[in-house]
Amino acid sequence: MKRDYAAELRFDNSFVRGLPADPVLANVPRQVHNAAYTRVDPTPVAAPKLLAWSDDLAARLGIEKPGTDNTMVEVLAGNRLLPGMQPYAARYGGHQFGHWAGQLGDGRAITLGELNAADSTRQELQLKGAGRTPYSRTADGRAVLRSSLREFLCSEAMHHLGVPTTRALSLVATGEPVMRDMFYDGHPREEPGAVVCRVAPSFVRFGNFQILAAQEEHDALRTLADYVCKNYFSNKSIQEVFLEICRRTGLLMADWMRLGFVHGVMNTDNMSILGLTIDYGPYGWLEGYDLEWTPNTTDAEGRRYCYGNQPHVARWNLARLAEALLPLVPDKAALEGGLTVYADTFADAWRKALAQKLGLAALDQPGDDELVSGLFQLLAEQETDFTIFFRNLSTPTIESLRPAYYGELPEQKLGEWLGLYRSRITRENLSEAERQTRMHSVNPKYVFRNYLAQQAIDAIERNGDTQPLERLIQVLKRPYDGQPGHQDLAGRRPEWARHKAGCSALSCSS
Ligand code: AMP
Ligand code: MG
Repeated sequence: MKRDYAAELRFDNSFVRGLPADPVLANVPRQVHNAAYTRVDPTPVAAPKLLAWSDDLAARLGIEKPGTDNTMVEVLAGNRLLPGMQPYAARYGGHQFGHWAGQLGDGRAITLGELNAADSTRQELQLKGAGRTPYSRTADGRAVLRSSLREFLCSEAMHHLGVPTTRALSLVATGEPVMRDMFYDGHPREEPGAVVCRVAPSFVRFGNFQILAAQEEHDALRTLADYVCKNYFSNKSIQEVFLEICRRTGLLMADWMRLGFVHGVMNTDNMSILGLTIDYGPYGWLEGYDLEWTPNTTDAEGRRYCYGNQPHVARWNLARLAEALLPLVPDKAALEGGLTVYADTFADAWRKALAQKLGLAALDQPGDDELVSGLFQLLAEQETDFTIFFRNLSTPTIESLRPAYYGELPEQKLGEWLGLYRSRITRENLSEAERQTRMHSVNPKYVFRNYLAQQAIDAIERNGDTQPLERLIQVLKRPYDGQPGHQDLAGRRPEWARHKAGCSALSCSS
């Protein structure tokens, strides 16, 4: 007899069990009070079809890839629940673009349950695009294929780059259209819809605390803090946990900065208390090095969330979390200490990352500060591809670095800086081969450039062709490996993609 793998999955529901529930069950948009979540089921979709699957994550979870038996696809589309699941939408608030926005909450994400995974961890399975919840406000609770594919692939790519992130198990087409005004110009059109199954130990955000503090629901705030401390931080005090959140956020920022990742919407509702990258929307990867670059067209004017501002915004967001915790930790100085921990952790991790990117044991020699500042001046001199420059720097010659330049190459300045750099590396006790191997292990060859995402999206939308998507999934599993045969995925962004929608910058529409 065929084993029913889906029926063998075991779910815990610690969030539902441990935290105050919304007593109202009506699934209509509304303000919720004194609760951390509302129980709500996903809304079924017309014709679910599995488009992408993460083998690697599935193995860790102990979930079989759905075959001809469609049970799991139905579950991952929100059409069916497995025994033991208690779906809910979380209540949270947040600061959006620097302003308090009040209640936000899971407007289209629904957690199905916490899986007792094969690797002995407990992982929330959450469907994004699963239909309306009380937190949907005026929106439809759905997600389009293009943004879902971007979330699926980028969260997996980030994981394989070694960055803390929520993950993605599956991408399922719903067979239902979704209306979106992609350019916010009054021309909505129907687009294919999709659901991503996201996976993380917890999706709690800064905003889950903030809403309870803002509404002065201090009992619920304390219960949430106790829950988080107990379940995710080995029962430390909330004060200590705040320091740990600050530390992890500092490490996360160093990771984003070392890879040229720009999140695009660092609102406090998009900040994970576990220090994970969360909520992939209009993100992007630096192509031309530019501290002011933002992939989010909504952010083009203020540039609050541009590449160079990310460490600063993270600190600002942590300060908002600290404010929310004040009713629980009256010792303000202790919370302020967290912000220092953040700043120190980031500064230290960023310096280490730079040393590694340059193939140096540490940036601790006389002249190293000048070497680094000279490097960033050089990168800003002409439009220089951040990823290619560092990857190719393992062979520090002008010829090797030529592919990093979108236009003219600053021959003289580059030559001068390379002279300094070459003399610096001769002082390291490393063979050339070893230095190259080390540099390649931290400077990726493959990042998920927006134009690559758009090509995969176009292929599916045009004729259901999942080949480009499949190829990206495979290649992005080994971002630091050479992978001959895939050189075309490692090049500069082509000129046609410079101003094409979705290929460089994009809107929040999703
Ligand atoms: P985001 O900008 O994706 O972080 O979302 C901000 C808020 O808007 C969150 O509360 C989301 O749940 C909500 N939201 C975004 N898109 C939708 C949608 N299509 N339907 C319902 N809620 C949404
Ligand atoms: Mg969000």
